[in-house]
Amino acid sequence: MKKKTARVSSEATLSRFVKIVGEKNAVRGEDMTPYLREQRDLYRGKAAIVLKPANTEEVAKILALADKTKTAIVPQGGNTGLVGGQTSFDKNAIIVSTARMNRIREVDANSNTMTVESGVILQNAQEAAAKVERLFPLSLGAEGSCTIGGNLSTNAGGTQVLAYGNARDLVLGIEVVLAGGKILRGLRKLKKDNTGYDLRHLFMGAEGTLGIITAAVLKLFPAPRAISTAWIGVSSPEAALSLLNLALARAGTSLTSFEIMPRIALEFDLRHLPGARDPLGSPYPWYVLAEIFGDDETRTRELMESLLAGGMEQGLVPDATISESREQRNQLWKLRTAMSDVQKPEGGSIKHDISVPVSSVPAFVKEATAKVEQMIPGARVVAFGHLGDGNLHYNVSQPVGADKAKFMAKWEAVNDAVHTIVTKYEGSISAEHGIGLLKRDLLAKAKDPVALSVMHAIKKALDPNGILNPGKVLRWKVPGGRKS
Ligand code: ZN
Repeated sequence: MKKKTARVSSEATLSRFVKIVGEKNAVRGEDMTPYLREQRDLYRGKAAIVLKPANTEEVAKILALADKTKTAIVPQGGNTGLVGGQTSFDKNAIIVSTARMNRIREVDANSNTMTVESGVILQNAQEAAAKVERLFPLSLGAEGSCTIGGNLSTNAGGTQVLAYGNARDLVLGIEVVLAGGKILRGLRKLKKDNTGYDLRHLFMGAEGTLGIITAAVLKLFPAPRAISTAWIGVSSPEAALSLLNLALARAGTSLTSFEIMPRIALEFDLRHLPGARDPLGSPYPWYVLAEIFGDDETRTRELMESLLAGGMEQGLVPDATISESREQRNQLWKLRTAMSDVQKPEGGSIKHDISVPVSSVPAFVKEATAKVEQMIPGARVVAFGHLGDGNLHYNVSQPVGADKAKFMAKWEAVNDAVHTIVTKYEGSISAEHGIGLLKRDLLAKAKDPVALSVMHAIKKALDPNGILNPGKVLRWKVPGGRKS
């Protein structure tokens, strides 16, 4: 009989995997549903089993056996990813959930570091830092359920990248299990370490295709003693950009967020977000949500007031309001963070997660919007996001009353048109959500061919049998002709 090289998980093989974690940490059948569905219902997955290892050593044993038996492994954290990276599409694949690897191993306030396992929920990491008056600044909508491992694997961004950088910038060391089961022990706390290639950055943003991140040393910062948040009406993205530069000149790295959203986004909030109200007396075409961190309540507020006054003098700010309490701050942020949810009742939405050089944001918005409106008359562009990072969630809601399925059928055509304009401005088709499956073929088109060939060479070197998250990020052929 010809020996099969495909990933066939026979019961005998599966039971060897189950033995590693113990029967009660293996999930089968119907119980797998929460691991197979992703939140936007873009994908429904398939898998043989879900394994929940307790520690790095168990992950190492799983990957050693997977390599030997050529079993596909899909790592999964909080299952909040937006591009299908965490979804298994192969009925013979094994999902490795990091849910039980949720220990905070150490908080070292003097080194300003925290060593955590990859299954730690982001919010728990933030709270552990806050307990010692430190800040772990990664902050995003899914923080109550996403995990550090997923954050690092997708190089997550969020609302404080402007001052602190994205996930990649917040890591000093990582521990990774490689395809054959070897453990790369890189949990260093060093700021300076020039000993050759920086391996950490290979695994961050790799979406589990090169290894499974099992722990990381994260950077901490002083916790802010005062926060001032302003909701600002502006006439255009151009005005917002000028205001951003005024704010950066006056506040420097104290300016931690500079978000933008159009009037239609606020209208969606007012329609669908319970308790939402317009923070300003009259409507404005665009809004900025700006935040400053400081060490003193009065000084921080004065800084915000002075930059708003500067903006008014220059004719950039017709009206603005500053939050008076934590409660008000939360209300302002809710208007921004509810953005994806309040789009749902408005029908279909074609999404993009793009970045362009900050100075090109206004021109990009103008050009992309003209194109989209020409393609689909009545389409409602809801371009919101992180102006300070040049990153927009350039979403397009369907025309009022249009047929949702017909509108959504234009997803690819609209993506193509918008991404063509992104490329013209030397931007990126994925700013903070990753590639996963959703953007894999787009990446192959948009990425520089030399860069792409280097990525393939790295994948081949680290995962020659193609067992790690097959089919994600790169289209990949493994020996024996199996395609992923
Ligand atoms: Zn975002």
